[in-house]
Amino acid sequence: MHLAEYLALRPVPGAGVVMALTGRCPLACAHCSTDASADGLDPPAGALLRFAESFAGPHPPSVALLTGGEPLLRPRLVRDLAERCRAAGTAAFVLTGMFWARTARVPAPVAAALDAVDHVSASLDAFHEREVPRRAVFTALRRLLDTGKDVSLHLLADGPGGPAGAGVDEVVAAVRGEFGDRVPMLVGRLAAVGRGSSLLPEPDAGSSAVAPPCAMAAWPVVAVDGTVTACCNQHVLDRRPVPGHLLLGHAASDTWTDIRGRTVGSPALRAVRTLGPHALARTAADGSGGPGDPGGPGRSGCDVCRSLRSGPAPRVAASAEALEGPVLRLQELAGPAGFARRYGSARHAGLVLLGGPSCAG
Ligand code: SF4
Repeated sequence: MHLAEYLALRPVPGAGVVMALTGRCPLACAHCSTDASADGLDPPAGALLRFAESFAGPHPPSVALLTGGEPLLRPRLVRDLAERCRAAGTAAFVLTGMFWARTARVPAPVAAALDAVDHVSASLDAFHEREVPRRAVFTALRRLLDTGKDVSLHLLADGPGGPAGAGVDEVVAAVRGEFGDRVPMLVGRLAAVGRGSSLLPEPDAGSSAVAPPCAMAAWPVVAVDGTVTACCNQHVLDRRPVPGHLLLGHAASDTWTDIRGRTVGSPALRAVRTLGPHALARTAADGSGGPGDPGGPGRSGCDVCRSLRSGPAPRVAASAEALEGPVLRLQELAGPAGFARRYGSARHAGLVLLGGPSCAG
């Protein structure tokens, strides 16, 4: 599966699932959106495997993104999950910081895990390059490409005051110089969460005053403690309790059918996906939707969303239900580059198409 196919599915409710396999990471990249460390938490493998086995059914996720921390610190689990995914018809994506590329020989368990997944996406930016040399990343990517594996790179654009920003165009040029147009790239932005919070002055900097509909509420996310949340907002993943409308269940006790049903059917999540968190909060504050927090000026959509305490009023829920199809179609029309433009660096959005079916190059 190409990166563009993955991004095309990202706004579709229940089309994918994100699974954090560990809170550990051997790297210490300063911009990381998590607080992953050498002694982070590992969710029990049995619970994750049981959950993945439940993908087999009438509506399996099309994609499972295996992440962390560094998921390849648990290579056997990556391999076993990828096998469960394949049995269910789910593509397995692994997102790695490439610690394993620092040695000339890839450890056998890591090689087996890489072989088992459908797509390997690696991080490459100035912060990562302090931990893993670019040449080592390129060598590992070339080996994967030579075996026919789909690969992609996650890069980091200019962040406000971030020291990595100046280098992104140089990194893009180096990747294209090395691989031509074979490696698609998703260029993201620095976020003030996890270790990255020390690099930005304001939490949620860059958020608009009035947040648009949130496509991030489309895929469930299994956090490192097994809790399943409605989105990948790092505060939602890290802090307990999870706000009620963003809590979907637990990997140890719920099946994919349970979790998908709550994702697709929740009136609050549908309103966040279709109207946006500010609109939902405003209608609640007007007395039509219960005691929602309208949010003050300058509060980000995620701030407002996390502070919501009730679902939408019936007429707002009905509007969201009627609008969900058209909103999804607009996102389909924008395509993978539209999604990358919205959630990453707009001027680099077209790079997600490199090497894909719609890329002339
Ligand atoms: S907290 Fe709400 S607005 Fe923010 S990503 Fe999650 S669902 Fe979307």
